[in-house]
Amino acid sequence: MNLSDNALVLFSGGQDSTVCLAWALQRFARVETVGFDYGQRHAVELTVRPRIRERLAQLSPQWRERLGDDHVVKIDALAAISDTALTREIAIGISASGLPTTFVPGRNLVFFAFAGAVAYRRGTRHLVAGMCETDCSGYPDCRDDTIKAMQLALSLGMDRRLVIHTPLMWIDKAATFALAQDIGGAPLVDVLLAETHTCYLGDREHRHDWGFGCGECPACRLRAEGFAKWKKAA
Ligand code: ZN
Repeated sequence: MNLSDNALVLFSGGQDSTVCLAWALQRFARVETVGFDYGQRHAVELTVRPRIRERLAQLSPQWRERLGDDHVVKIDALAAISDTALTREIAIGISASGLPTTFVPGRNLVFFAFAGAVAYRRGTRHLVAGMCETDCSGYPDCRDDTIKAMQLALSLGMDRRLVIHTPLMWIDKAATFALAQDIGGAPLVDVLLAETHTCYLGDREHRHDWGFGCGECPACRLRAEGFAKWKKAA
């Protein structure tokens, strides 16, 4: 990896994409972020993004220098064609297809197409994203094969080499905490716990040792279990 290169991070304001942003700030000369407003039922994800960016910039003068523009892309069409727990009042569970009802079909493919267009326009070769196959196996658009196919499609379709980095692809949530600790020590872990948002219900009222959330939804349970496992191993 060439440190003089630029990177664009798919940054949702969740824990995983925040770790990816820190990972990119450690490696690339300039790092921009892109977020998607697609009619999420809980826009809290979008409101925590600027604060997380500011907190990361405060962690290191070098990171402040490297952190570039933020792009928010509005994709109303995705909400219009989706019928899932994230965009409408449907209970979170497992649908007849075996996928969580939180799954927006093809969502990440759409995100990558837009992120690729932003990257092209900004002259950026590297995309960084927090997809993880290890403990979100219900989401086929998080799988490594899907990401690799998307990298190839974008590179061919735009006639420019794009590389998609997924540093969390093969690690679990406990290892994600460990990675954050490696990259930015306790101050970065504190940003994760205090500022990031992953709860499917949009709960910012209940603070646990692992961060904010309802504590009951699949995202909260995954995060809580990962935190406990990491703490136990530390
Ligand atoms: Zn929750």
